[in-house]
Amino acid sequence: MVGAGVIGLSCAVRLAEAGHRVDVLARELPLETTSVVAAALWYPYKALPAERVTAWSATSYDAFAELAKEDTGVRMLPGTEVLHERTADPWWSGAVPDLEHVAPPPSYADAWRFTAPVIDMPVYLRWLRGRLDELGGTLTRMALAALPQSEDVVVNCSGLGSRRLASDLDLHPVRGQVVLVEGVSLDRWWLDSAGPTYVVPRSDIVVAGGTDQDGDWSRTPSPEIAEEILRRASALVPELARARVVAHRVGLRPVRPAVRLEAEGRVIHCYGHGGAGVTVSWGCADEVTALVGGLVAAPG
Ligand SMILES: Cc1cc2nc3c(=O)[nH]c(=O)nc-3n(C[C@H](O)[C@H](O)[C@H](O)COP(=O)(O)OP(=O)(O)OC[C@H]3O[C@@H](n4cnc5c(N)ncnc54)[C@H](O)[C@@H]3O)c2cc1C
Repeated sequence: MVGAGVIGLSCAVRLAEAGHRVDVLARELPLETTSVVAAALWYPYKALPAERVTAWSATSYDAFAELAKEDTGVRMLPGTEVLHERTADPWWSGAVPDLEHVAPPPSYADAWRFTAPVIDMPVYLRWLRGRLDELGGTLTRMALAALPQSEDVVVNCSGLGSRRLASDLDLHPVRGQVVLVEGVSLDRWWLDSAGPTYVVPRSDIVVAGGTDQDGDWSRTPSPEIAEEILRRASALVPELARARVVAHRVGLRPVRPAVRLEAEGRVIHCYGHGGAGVTVSWGCADEVTALVGGLVAAPG
């Protein structure tokens, strides 16, 4: 396995649960990845194709609902997406059980609410890593110049690293900046995709976002952008005006015209999940596990 973000670790856990020996190699360990920067709200954003993404998201929704019953960093929280014009139900609405249109706040034309998994990524990634350890899998820091040449099946979950490891120039970064604040307590999330502006509570802090800057490789937080994020977020959730800034984070979403989840010989690629890697993680992990099962059964 290559990659220890949410995709690599979820695939590693499912593969180990299915009885495979799993060794993960990764340049960045879980708490250093793009995944740890994610807000992370269950929401199919900047990931296609619609049909596969909806199915993966639905599977993950159910998996997260189960994980929310344990101490994993996952909570099921109600929230509202506000819209600037009257809008039909989203393409992924089949993946959530309780989406309903509601009266929009002033200055918006429409809104819907639904219960979504909200994932505290530092806590959750630690939990995933612990689960992998428990199942006997390994995780080793290693920067690879190419995918491992091996008799074993190789699963490539290297995110943006696949530009190099899979020579895939269809993959590009979409920069996301967020501000972590404390001093406000919220029991629901808010989203205005048009910004994108989102406010996602964790147990101790609130994540306010965001940006989607196509083709921008800079991981340095911009103070001007942070100020603008806080202005937008406070307009959406006025309580944020009295919050204290704790930290700034930037991540590069691995965006591709379509998620690549397929076998190429004895390599299974699973990357390009854009702004929805957390959202689709368990659905993708199940599909990768099925593909590995097929390859292991076939002669090498
Ligand atoms: C600000 C922001 C907010 C977001 N909010 C959400 C959200 O609310 N909901 C949601 O679902 N998603 C969200 N996302 C998107 C989500 O973070 C990504 O889709 C997801 O993290 C991708 O996971 P990944 O495991 O593919 O990649 P990564 O987390 O980037 O992990 C890739 C792994 O591959 C390794 N790797 C790469 N190249 C090499 C190499 N050459 N050798 C060895 N190892 C290598 C890396 O070191 C790393 O371990 C957000 C992203 C950002 C930036």
